[in-house]
Amino acid sequence: MIILYTGNGKGKTTAALGQMYRAIGQGMRVCIIQFIKGKWKTGEMLASQSFSNNLTFKTMGEGFTWNSKDINKDIEAARFAWETAKDSINSSKYDMVILDELTYLIKYKIITNEEVIEFLKNRPNNIHIIITGRDASNELIEVSDLVTEMKEIKHPYKSGIEAIKGIEY
Ligand code: ATP
Ligand code: MG
Repeated sequence: MIILYTGNGKGKTTAALGQMYRAIGQGMRVCIIQFIKGKWKTGEMLASQSFSNNLTFKTMGEGFTWNSKDINKDIEAARFAWETAKDSINSSKYDMVILDELTYLIKYKIITNEEVIEFLKNRPNNIHIIITGRDASNELIEVSDLVTEMKEIKHPYKSGIEAIKGIEY
């Protein structure tokens, strides 16, 4: 399966983490690659130690944040993250690989849409791939087996409430 969680509402990354939790319970080996590094130590990153037998957690894109100082360094880091993602998928070490926020690499033209689609079409058998991020391309939607759009109805951010520990990170 290729599963895609997209849309503007909250719940994309956490939906992927829910799938991860379920897969680990079934004894599957999961690798999660986070392409965007935030400023917080996320709960999922901290909790990953508890599942270290089944879970490999890779936080990539060292500098790829929204307020970057050196854009070339960020692009290099993001490209390296994509290479790592491909290697992880091809390694036969995992039953499920989560590519968290992959869509931004396409949106910001760090990797091409065609490159991603081509890779996904030629993926190995017997692996589940989960992709999250806003603004998924039509081709990405096309190549996926399951696509859910998170639709924002209400978000506390809009009323000036900042990110909450344990909820957002
Ligand atoms: P989560 O990680 O909580 O499942 P997400 O993956 O759907 O959220 P992203 O688009 O990756 O959300 O955004 C990253 C951060 O922005 C998250 O902390 C999320 O809570 C927050 N966020 C999500 N939707 C909105 C929104 N509509 N307005 C403001 N912030 C949002
Ligand atoms: Mg997310």
